[in-house]
Amino acid sequence: MRIYKVGGAVRDRLLGKPVTDIDWVVVGATTEEMLAKGFRPVGLDFPVFLHPKSGEEYALARTERKSGRGYGGFTFHASPEVTLEEDLIRRDLTINAMAEDDQQNLTDPYHGQRDLEARLLRHVSPAFAEDPLRVLRVARFAARYAALGFTVAPKTLELMRQLSESGELQALTAERSWKEISRALMEDQPQVFIEVLRACGALKELMPEVDALFGVPQPQAHHPEIDTGAHTLSVLEQAARHKQPLTVRWACLLHDLGKGLTPEEEWPRHIAHEFKGLKLIKAVNERFKAPKDCQELALLVGEYHTHSHRALELKPSTLLELLQSFDVYRRPQRFEEFIAACEMDARGRKGLEQRSYPQADYLRGAATAARSVAVQPLLEKGFKGPELGEAIKRERLKALKAYKETASF
Ligand code: ATP
Ligand code: MG
Repeated sequence: MRIYKVGGAVRDRLLGKPVTDIDWVVVGATTEEMLAKGFRPVGLDFPVFLHPKSGEEYALARTERKSGRGYGGFTFHASPEVTLEEDLIRRDLTINAMAEDDQQNLTDPYHGQRDLEARLLRHVSPAFAEDPLRVLRVARFAARYAALGFTVAPKTLELMRQLSESGELQALTAERSWKEISRALMEDQPQVFIEVLRACGALKELMPEVDALFGVPQPQAHHPEIDTGAHTLSVLEQAARHKQPLTVRWACLLHDLGKGLTPEEEWPRHIAHEFKGLKLIKAVNERFKAPKDCQELALLVGEYHTHSHRALELKPSTLLELLQSFDVYRRPQRFEEFIAACEMDARGRKGLEQRSYPQADYLRGAATAARSVAVQPLLEKGFKGPELGEAIKRERLKALKAYKETASF
């Protein structure tokens, strides 16, 4: 058997990037031989194994053919006769279809190295169109390597457009899509992921609620960029620049979905877009089965982001309601993430990227004030049950009134 490094490890070494996980391909071996060497099979009908010591993935060289819709609709053929070239041709991009032996000799039948130099994301063969997930993967690689000057080759973008128009993207499972989406959002330029999806018509298929924001105007006074889609991309860009976690980035992407529902007569104003957007945010959350913390934060940011922007003007009673909605006493971290998303929203506006956001510290101060109310003295006064709850609220309100009067912002 012959063993080669493939995929990302080869690509990233040639790019001079750090290599994190290594994928291997094994040519000329059978499942039985792999098992005899102590490799552990990953799945039942998938010719992939884990190395007994390193835990890295070793896949038998295989060919694939499409036999139906979706990912289940693939038949694999792995046998010792399958060549390295045959295995590489089933891969998505030329820069991902190179292999390397232990002497660093490169096998590059589809000119991945040439495309690395030309900074092009190019499909390996027309079989690219057989797996719709590749549309998301290409968009993700575009986001990752945008800073290096990579773009999608025109013919590849055309294939991605055909795939999007065919409706095949609907056959993707939530799990496969979310894996690509979440990884793409964590790249340095996540806005490029959305841009590429939009450019090939995939955004309309995957997240029509986000696609609908392009072409929707906002008031120039608050939004010099005017377009709601452009604003959303800038907010995402800011979130990456400030190294925000996935929860915040997901919330940034979805925070203004309600603006896509505003009747044209009301443009550029978007009355109650926060509330109107909630059912759309919920739909997108559920479509991709986003993790619970991502779902929750997106809904809260959708509903309350304008509260944050107006924080300094809020009445103490409204401030209290906000803090209660976030359960800021038991969930301080979630409130921090809310503030971060709102700050990214404020900065994701043309020419305002460097603005300060005093609302953030003001809200933190309010949370501290409300949290400082001690329960013990109220218990000692004999409050219990719902009355205790009311008494705590009254005290918190008092604390917030005092805070608003004394805080210098
Ligand atoms: P990363 O740095 O994100 O891990 P990678 O290129 O290693 O990038 P993996 O998802 O680990 O990506 O996949 C390893 C290799 O398997 C890819 O480089 C590519 O050759 C191939 N591959 C993975 N998924 C697909 C797919 N859906 N269609 C075609 N080839 C794929
Ligand atoms: Mg990899």
